[in-house]
Amino acid sequence: MTKVGFVGLGIMGGPMAANLVDAGYEVTGYNRSSAKVEKLVAAGGKGASTIAEAVSDAEVIVTMLPDSPDVESAVLGDDGVLAHAPDGALLIDCSTIRPEVSRAVAEQAAKQGVRALDAPVSGGEQGAIDGALSIMVGGEPDAFEAASGVFDVVGKTVVHVGPAGSGQTVKAANQLIVAGNIALVSEALMFLEAQGVDTESAFQVLGGGLAGSKVLDAKNKGMRERSFKPGFRIELHHKDLGILQSAARESGVATPVGSLVAQLMAAAVAQGDGSLDHSGLFRQIARLSGKE
Ligand code: NAD
Repeated sequence: MTKVGFVGLGIMGGPMAANLVDAGYEVTGYNRSSAKVEKLVAAGGKGASTIAEAVSDAEVIVTMLPDSPDVESAVLGDDGVLAHAPDGALLIDCSTIRPEVSRAVAEQAAKQGVRALDAPVSGGEQGAIDGALSIMVGGEPDAFEAASGVFDVVGKTVVHVGPAGSGQTVKAANQLIVAGNIALVSEALMFLEAQGVDTESAFQVLGGGLAGSKVLDAKNKGMRERSFKPGFRIELHHKDLGILQSAARESGVATPVGSLVAQLMAAAVAQGDGSLDHSGLFRQIARLSGKE
């Protein structure tokens, strides 16, 4: 399959689409703001000025949109992806959204002869640029097989985790673990600074022991330097913790630490930090100690 229609060319979608171009796919991209379409064209892709133009000729359609309402309108809406996708197309939605919306997309797609996968990703902007994302995929096994060429280009660890919606459920767990980790690395930094320890050395040794994590490695320098350019925005992580909390509530599961971190993330948004990288949660932790 060579023709890809790509909808949503932001921080993640832009480099993913560019990697597909580099791998030899014919990629036609659409984004709500046109500057991002021009960037794809400069990278060798084709530009579209409507969703219809991007998808009506595509064998594979990839969507990478911010939130559930965006997918509801851009995929399920009157003039959306499913209204224009050709029969037999494969729809890969990489957005992080509510599992029930992914199930609704899969159901509607099946009625129209389109195979749909929910395929949220982890690995951040750098993972998207490097084509090294972790991708958790929900949907039918044959659709997963059919998508392998595209997944090989944009991902490194790609796992089929179950039926439609399962990818989103696993992604919610991912966001719980990452948020908790960011909060604890932030608290550790606050504590180390207050004690007058050299924090670069401290994180070097912490990173080699059981306290080590990808979050610690990727985010401690930015926190130490108070540099929070996104990356993954706090407002998106706030959205994801909302997905986790409502799904956990529906399944009768308590996530006490996750709920606490969700409150800290919500407070960060309320205090105007929503557009910072999620490592900027550090500022919220610092405020609690009167340090920011
Ligand atoms: P982004 O805001 O940078 O990109 C989203 C793009 O979609 C924007 O360019 C926006 O203009 C476009 N868009 C919105 N509505 C549209 C519509 N109706 N039609 C066409 N284009 C539309 O966001 P992002 O950081 O790329 O994140 C995208 C998704 O990936 C989110 O669900 C996010 O939670 C998830 N995610 C992000 C990261 C990260 O590090 N940024 C990592 C993993 C997962």
